[in-house]
Amino acid sequence: MDEKVNEIIRDLKSYLAYLKEMGISSLPSSENSADNTIPSGILTLADVQKELGDCKRCKLHRTRKTIVFGEGKEKAGLMLIGEGPGYDEDVQGRPFVGKAGQLLTKILQSISLPREEVYITNIIKCRPPQNRNPEPDEIQSCNPFLVKQITVVRPKIICALGSFSAQTLLQTDTKITALRGKLYDLDGIRVVPTYHPAFLLRNPERKREVWEDMKKIAELMQTR
Ligand code: URA
Repeated sequence: MDEKVNEIIRDLKSYLAYLKEMGISSLPSSENSADNTIPSGILTLADVQKELGDCKRCKLHRTRKTIVFGEGKEKAGLMLIGEGPGYDEDVQGRPFVGKAGQLLTKILQSISLPREEVYITNIIKCRPPQNRNPEPDEIQSCNPFLVKQITVVRPKIICALGSFSAQTLLQTDTKITALRGKLYDLDGIRVVPTYHPAFLLRNPERKREVWEDMKKIAELMQTR
């Protein structure tokens, strides 16, 4: 728990330093100012991407072709967060454009959501060599940027795609099979964990559960 609090404080400090760098010395007051949530509406995704720049903060910069920042609607109601770019994403600089991405597009269509209506990104922005799992220092380097992306988009719902994304966002070691099917809260944002589309390509019999999760997302999108 202490480690989590430290991490939040670190991120908050880096966010405040960022605002200072942008020439913003005071936070806007809002109706929610008493609940200590990070205010949205100041930063843009372009600002965050500019700050990320030609990132060399971790070792992945040596092997990546392209940084895959994320894409979609700046103020989307639904944000989907995967693990990290694969081969196709690294080549094209866009998230979820390979086989798993094509399946993700179909999954979104199943609840009448075009890709352009959502925001899609990953926990880490650079492809790990041979698609190995991201390492703690790599996640740590990318985390402030993910926090800022979430802050800017401020979606109603985050769909965590796969165990890596769900475990990182929810700060838990619990398996995705146990995490999915339940709702979580991240600073007022509903988090819906579901199976990664790449897992579904290998285990098509699990599509039914993802369909249940998508129906839940569609239902939540309709509520206030
Ligand atoms: N898998 C992911 O987790 N993210 C992508 O962008 C592509 C495949």
